[in-house]
Amino acid sequence: MPFDQIEGQESALTILRNALRGGRLAHAYLFLGPEGVGKRLTALTLAKSMNCQSPPAVGESCARCSSCIKIDSSNHADVIVVEPAGEVIKIDQIRELQRRLHYRPLEGGKRACIIDSADSLNDAAANALLKTLEEPPDETHLFLITSRPHQLLPTILSRCQWVKFRPLSVGHIVQILQKAHSWPEERAYFFASLAGGSAGKALTLSNRVDFQKRLDWLRTFSDVSRKTTEEILAICERVAKEEEEVNDLLELWKLWVRDLVVSKAQGEGSEGSGLRLINHDLAPEVAEEAKKYSFDRLDSLFTLISDIQKSIAQKANRQLALETLMLEMKKNSGGKEIYFGRR
Ligand SMILES: [Zn+2]
Repeated sequence: MPFDQIEGQESALTILRNALRGGRLAHAYLFLGPEGVGKRLTALTLAKSMNCQSPPAVGESCARCSSCIKIDSSNHADVIVVEPAGEVIKIDQIRELQRRLHYRPLEGGKRACIIDSADSLNDAAANALLKTLEEPPDETHLFLITSRPHQLLPTILSRCQWVKFRPLSVGHIVQILQKAHSWPEERAYFFASLAGGSAGKALTLSNRVDFQKRLDWLRTFSDVSRKTTEEILAICERVAKEEEEVNDLLELWKLWVRDLVVSKAQGEGSEGSGLRLINHDLAPEVAEEAKKYSFDRLDSLFTLISDIQKSIAQKANRQLALETLMLEMKKNSGGKEIYFGRR
């Protein structure tokens, strides 16, 4: 069933499926929640159910009829997606939508208009859309999708029925990545852990941080006590050029410290028991590295990294912040060199 492909949004789906089954679908919905958690997929799945030619049950869709196939390939005349052309959704795009809404649904079913990133409507476009929301055409349902509802006009917000979407659990993201992208579990779990509740972010991150880069960054963490101050400053200068790069690096190190604590807590010789490591594929390296630190030391490193993430979010000097962190990390006694990923 297509609705089964949407993970972790039970309460939103219950509201919408009940409305669909009861023929009480509202003319305009606002789907709000973090990016990459299934809002657009839900709107498209509803559009399929509204138009399916051989639904297996009331409010379901078959995924095989010509209507379902057209929606899957973005070719259905009555399923209209409007999204930013560049940075914003412009008034011309809304006028084109309104021109199409003058006609009855072309394929005889119900029409679904999905405005994705509705917070990108510029003022003129938002005001134009307001007219459609005030007098919604027959057989038409609008789905406004946003992760930033406060950027929408209050008059638009008040004309939509709100449905909230939640951040996803790591487990749900793993399932999505494995099902939709056939990722191996190790890879899915690692990026899901980094993604802060968004399957979309896990995918974006996987394009930015490949596995080799992760090993390089963990090696830098592990070897910092053997580096000279000059070498450390050079690394900071290089990494600090890109804000995304610094953010990814800090998040990765924080999760690494978290793994060191977990490994230490589980004790030697108990691999595979208890809490799962995020860097599960590097369990031997985690166990080796954990021996170098006390719990107190790991605790203070975790706090320091979190503080630095916050100050960078508030536009502190990235290079200076990273230098502070790495020079503090260097104070650790050292210990033996660890070889990452040598298997
Ligand atoms: Zn169908």
